[in-house]
Amino acid sequence: MNKAVFLDRDGVINEERKDYVKTIKEFQVFDDVPKAIKQLKKLGFIVIVITNQSAVNRGIITLETLNEIHMELQKILKENNTSIDKFYFCPHKPDENCQCRKPNPEMLIRAAQDYNIDMKKSVMIGDSLTDIQAAHKAGCKGILLEKNQTLLQIVNSMVDDLL
Ligand SMILES: [Mg+2]
Ligand SMILES: [Zn+2]
Repeated sequence: MNKAVFLDRDGVINEERKDYVKTIKEFQVFDDVPKAIKQLKKLGFIVIVITNQSAVNRGIITLETLNEIHMELQKILKENNTSIDKFYFCPHKPDENCQCRKPNPEMLIRAAQDYNIDMKKSVMIGDSLTDIQAAHKAGCKGILLEKNQTLLQIVNSMVDDLL
């Protein structure tokens, strides 16, 4: 079985915007993200993005643009010889009461099935309590990224724990 690191997107990989990331231009990836993802892969983790994107069903962004934004991230990562293995997103609004919007664990559970992931060896990193709640419901560890922390700092501390 595989082990994975699940990453929330907004606030972890890129700057969060209160008015949603609507264009590639608004998609501002934090500087040390490629390095962090590279490091995770080196440690043998599959790296999967798990993101709530209610902007889709709010009619703020099209699926096409959302995919373009994710391809832009892949482009940036490729320039650094790394990549995200898979993106899972929930397009629903909170009032749609879907099964996939975090804190529901559906996206994590689906990813675990698709990639034969051992949740006991896996971790979700997010900047919201809902990320951690989803992680716990899916049976993996949750690490909360604090406001003053970067993904690379968390990854580096994971490396220390594994040594
Ligand atoms: Mg977030
Ligand atoms: Zn959903």
